Amino acid sequence: MKLRVLGAFGSEGLGQRPSAFLVNDRVLVDAGTVSGALTVAEQLEVEHALISHSHLDHVAGLAFLTETLACCGAQRPVTVTRTAPVVEALRAAVFNNVVWPDFARIPDTITPVVKYRALVEEAEQRVGDLWVTPVPVTHTVPTAGFVVHDGARGFVYSGDTGPTQALWAAARGLTGIRAVILECAFPNRLAAIAKAANHMTPVLIQRELDKLPPDVPVWIYHIKPQFYEETADELLRLGSGRVMLLDQDKTYSL
Ligand SMILES: [Zn+2]
Ligand SMILES: [Zn+2]
Repeated sequence: MKLRVLGAFGSEGLGQRPSAFLVNDRVLVDAGTVSGALTVAEQLEVEHALISHSHLDHVAGLAFLTETLACCGAQRPVTVTRTAPVVEALRAAVFNNVVWPDFARIPDTITPVVKYRALVEEAEQRVGDLWVTPVPVTHTVPTAGFVVHDGARGFVYSGDTGPTQALWAAARGLTGIRAVILECAFPNRLAAIAKAANHMTPVLIQRELDKLPPDVPVWIYHIKPQFYEETADELLRLGSGRVMLLDQDKTYSL
């Protein structure tokens, strides 16, 4: 399984793109940025966008991806997949013909460039060539983490979340989980903001490590660019060699 990091950050900074990952060239996991990281030909290969929640740093890239699909002769739509509240939020707040065109009706409703699909929470479902289980996590809007695998290998993706338990429980017992991809947004000194916004700090990551199977690597994404060095230093001091910060534009093999 290939995991390409299109955007590794929890916001936008100079050369730092919001959170998005591409699995096996076809399935986006979050879409904070897409067109800023892929060629047009690569964008046309995207079939599914698995969205953790409706915040802009996870969906903004859908706007420009759908424009590419509409303008550049895409042979198939991108199917935006998540649980029902997120699908509704995207329809009502983004693709509403005010903020951005309703690409579910362009060029027509029979062959649109975007389709929506709602997943059932806590059930394993097929998304492209992958199996996906959405698990609700704690954030300021309805949000899911995902357990993703291809039948042999996979990963757990936290979405934006405060301390969580359900996600690790969902992954327990699954063989072939090669990585936990876990958000961390703020440095420890901004713990109050992190708590109010339901995000992780390095101290909270340490507590999550204790809940996880000891042999699974933890890959961090979603650090806020404004506090990158400080947060990264604190994370790397957690030690044990188990925590790694994901590099934007790099492709990881699982
Ligand atoms: Zn976010
Ligand atoms: Zn968020």
